[in-house]
Amino acid sequence: MSEICVSPMPDEIAIFHEFRRMHVLGCTSRSEHLRLLNIQCGLSDCAATPTPRLHLLARASGLSTTEYARCHSMLPVFRVASDAEHAVAYGSQVTGSLSRAHGMSSPVSETYYCPLCLKQDVSAYQFGWLHRSHQLLGVEHCVHHGVKLKKAIETGWFTEFLHWKVENFDILPIAEPADSGDEFIRRYAEIFTGFLSFSAPAIFISLKRTLRTRAALLGLRVSSCGFEKLPSDLLFEIAPSDWLKRNLRGHGYKRRGQPFGRIDRQFTWGYSRSQPGDVYAMILATLYDTADAAIAAFKSSHRC
Ligand SMILES: [Zn+2]
Repeated sequence: MSEICVSPMPDEIAIFHEFRRMHVLGCTSRSEHLRLLNIQCGLSDCAATPTPRLHLLARASGLSTTEYARCHSMLPVFRVASDAEHAVAYGSQVTGSLSRAHGMSSPVSETYYCPLCLKQDVSAYQFGWLHRSHQLLGVEHCVHHGVKLKKAIETGWFTEFLHWKVENFDILPIAEPADSGDEFIRRYAEIFTGFLSFSAPAIFISLKRTLRTRAALLGLRVSSCGFEKLPSDLLFEIAPSDWLKRNLRGHGYKRRGQPFGRIDRQFTWGYSRSQPGDVYAMILATLYDTADAAIAAFKSSHRC
């Protein structure tokens, strides 16, 4: 019988890591596990401002909170950009409220996995886990294997994974080709997955300047009035419409030549706020021909 270890696994999403620990340590509830975590970390679970669960998992795993956040949280896609003052490492003590609010979250309501990544994990470690890179809105294939992601069963999906061990390797799910070989979708997936490797948010103003400069170079409109094509017009031209329908909230309100707030406000100097990662990944996939060029531009908006 294979054992399931309690250390975090490569690209494992924190919420699944927590569940595995609960399972291995015999805890029957999250609150029981939380008490145990606090004890392991030498903290009280009755503190007025409780330590974020993400930080407790880091400390119990022998990692710094910033290292654990960078490798296991979805913070790099929840908070892609921020003002300069708050553009500090994900998981740092000064961003405790962010870790508390989103440190254990997943940006998709359903849970996905790649059958080939699962087989690799089971072969190498005798058990499977949920990867962060499979839980990104609009990323419908595995960027490593190019196969379609599968939705985990809705009830008891954690338990389902625990049963995928080396003993039943022969009955693991079969991989299927990705639904679309579309270049835009492929680029979007690579860019969005690339966000997960960043250790701190971009500086919002700097990112906006980068996007404006690139859009202007392409002859797109970066002001609130004018006759040039808008960045959102270009997005709607090159992204497959059925994919947009599934992944861009409010897409049905878009009219050619009319600004589409979530996209076009990222280019104008009027009031706007930072958007989640899927919006920036769509914008970058629209403005750049390759994921590498897009990531390099995104990187230039970071402090270091
Ligand atoms: Zn894969």
